[in-house]
Amino acid sequence: MKIICIGRNYADHAKEMKSELPTEPIFFFKPDLAILRGYKFYIPDFTKDLHYEVELVVKINRVGKHIDEKFAHKYYNEIGLGIDFTARDIQQECKAKGLPWEKAKAFENSAVLSKNFIKKSDLDLNNIQFSMLQNNTVVQSGVSSDMIFTFDKIIAYISQFVTLKIGDLIYTGTPAGVGPVKIGDTLTGFIGEENMFNIEIR
Ligand code: MG
Repeated sequence: MKIICIGRNYADHAKEMKSELPTEPIFFFKPDLAILRGYKFYIPDFTKDLHYEVELVVKINRVGKHIDEKFAHKYYNEIGLGIDFTARDIQQECKAKGLPWEKAKAFENSAVLSKNFIKKSDLDLNNIQFSMLQNNTVVQSGVSSDMIFTFDKIIAYISQFVTLKIGDLIYTGTPAGVGPVKIGDTLTGFIGEENMFNIEIR
């Protein structure tokens, strides 16, 4: 199983990061052991600026390579919610030096994943509302219609480079409102009204 993450897929987030809008999807990987088991996240020692990024997650349910965008919808059936935890200080250092981001993005437990997924047929894919609360305050809210690249475009694009396999997860990018966590915080994620995860920061 692999985890593929899309960067800068919401214009308002690209703006808050002072990044240019991409003309094609930007992607990077996290290893399978990035998936957080349980509900407690321990801030790693190597960062002083650990940020949350809440993202819709597509679960691939069919093997495919060179998938045509018009058939991409056949390759997933469920949408979940996750957090792409990011060591922002390290990411900025890597960016400044023109180096890859893995140190900042691909560390162990850096990917929160909801236990439950919602069937595609129960969602309007172009209008999925999602949000995250930090200690009872809404810090991020997004809607899939604001994605620069749709689920189907992302799948078509990635599958030109790597074969997608059953169980692969695609984190589809974060809207504006990313920010730091501190010990004692709770992060609560929603798709619509449905509670998807509750994470304690330690
Ligand atoms: Mg992200």
